[in-house]
Amino acid sequence: MRGPKAYKNFIKGEWVKSRTNKTFEDINPANTDDVVGIFQQSDQRDVNDALNAAAEAYKKWRLVPAPKRGEILYRVAQRIVKDKERLSRDMTREMGKVLVETRGDVQEAIDMTFYMAGEGRRQFGQTIPSELPEKYAMTMRQPLGVCVMITPWNFPMAIPSWKMMPALIMGNTVVVKPATDTPLSVFNLVQIMHEEGIPAGVVNMVTGSGGAVGMPLINDKRVGCISFTGSTEIGRKISEACAPEFKHCHLEMGGKNCIMIMDDANIDLAVDGALWGAFGTTGQRCTASSRIIIHKKVYNKFAAKFVERVKSLKVGDGLDPSIQMGPAVSESQMNSVLDYMRIGKEEDGAKLLCGGGRFTGGKYNKGWFTMPTVFGDVRPGMRIFHEEIFGSVTDLIPAKDYDEAIELANNCAYGLSASIYTQDINLAFRAMRDVYTGIFYVNAPTIGAETHLPFGGTKHTGNGHREACVQALEVFSEWKSVYVDFSGTIQRAQIDNI
Ligand code: NAD
Repeated sequence: MRGPKAYKNFIKGEWVKSRTNKTFEDINPANTDDVVGIFQQSDQRDVNDALNAAAEAYKKWRLVPAPKRGEILYRVAQRIVKDKERLSRDMTREMGKVLVETRGDVQEAIDMTFYMAGEGRRQFGQTIPSELPEKYAMTMRQPLGVCVMITPWNFPMAIPSWKMMPALIMGNTVVVKPATDTPLSVFNLVQIMHEEGIPAGVVNMVTGSGGAVGMPLINDKRVGCISFTGSTEIGRKISEACAPEFKHCHLEMGGKNCIMIMDDANIDLAVDGALWGAFGTTGQRCTASSRIIIHKKVYNKFAAKFVERVKSLKVGDGLDPSIQMGPAVSESQMNSVLDYMRIGKEEDGAKLLCGGGRFTGGKYNKGWFTMPTVFGDVRPGMRIFHEEIFGSVTDLIPAKDYDEAIELANNCAYGLSASIYTQDINLAFRAMRDVYTGIFYVNAPTIGAETHLPFGGTKHTGNGHREACVQALEVFSEWKSVYVDFSGTIQRAQIDNI
């Protein structure tokens, strides 16, 4: 019998084994008998090879006209379209989310790649009148060199594409380290990029752990920029590691997002939204609706309808089209979520309204299936109010009015996404203004970003940058101001301009 397929690192245009000669397994979280693939457990030596390749390739890639770089990305996007079903199935197998959602993840990579291909013909600078005669002034973007991407497992292809495509269109070269739970989706993306004409060394992939691969990448002086998506805990470490060299560092981290439901809201619409926002991707989204703040006049009505719907969610293998929620990504993620369920049950005043454990028996024994779980009467001070759970758990939080809802919404270390359900246009606009997050929705849940709008968060979610849209170009380039003096004389700014 043939064993699972072995996958290699990608360095300088070649598929190569790690110098460690060690590997790790990529396991299907819905069926742990299913080994999706064997991947390289790399270390500093592989990192060094990849950085050498990326640094060498940068010399030529930065000089390729941006519209020509865009043409390659355009071909990459077309190919992802062609292979979408295969890529989505691979992703459900390695990550667990249901097939409609992995198709969405791949679609996001398609959208981002087409968008950034187009940026090859834009990258606008400015021409600006000089204060001196016979002098011309303008601005232009310049790439940063080798950019490192460290990515999480919850959006295994979308997030790497959000980072790689803007970096490449700006003329940078790339080393990507995927999460150890989902290396196949990055492998698939890199393979397509290679086959569609990205030159050798421009994109490199090294698989392995955060400590053995991530940290050496971050600490290397050849690296111009680190773009990281993951937990706030690791993001802080990366930020500290980058500080001594003032290395560019772009961080997208945790969230504890809220939906606010006002007393005039369409309750059925809010139930639909909260269900999708809280349990889509098994709650493993940085934008997951993990706090639902409800006006006390409609609290009981909303809670009753919501809990009934949550109890009816079909949980299982995401490849089965009738399934609405897949497993947790790994045993350790499941255990962390189960821990929070226990913490919630022990919180003084919180009420477990449904769920509260893992599914067992039959096919559930082969995977990491947590129950969709709702806690009621959650208040500030409780750990489940403040901490990111990143799983199938959400909180119902009563509020006496709009002002208290806003106070509860902003009582959060994170600032990624928030939303309001109301029919009152004035309240909707006040809330847009009053909640301090990077993303805000009206009459929709906290998830569902589009690639041509900036994505990112405030406070402990980010460090001031945004992904996607043209804002992503800011992460992967620096501005240069250029002055051209054609007067033939020395002209001194601020001195000779009377
Ligand atoms: P994680 O922080 O554990 O890992 C993220 C990546 O960092 C992985 O590739 C991991 O191998 C690597 N890593 C771990 N330790 C490292 C170290 N010491 N040095 C360098 N790299 C290291 O996060 P995760 O569990 O993969 O993802 C879940 C987290 O990601 C959640 O907190 C979630 O909110 C966040 N997230 C944020 C966004 C966003 O855009 N804001 C999007 C998706 C996920």
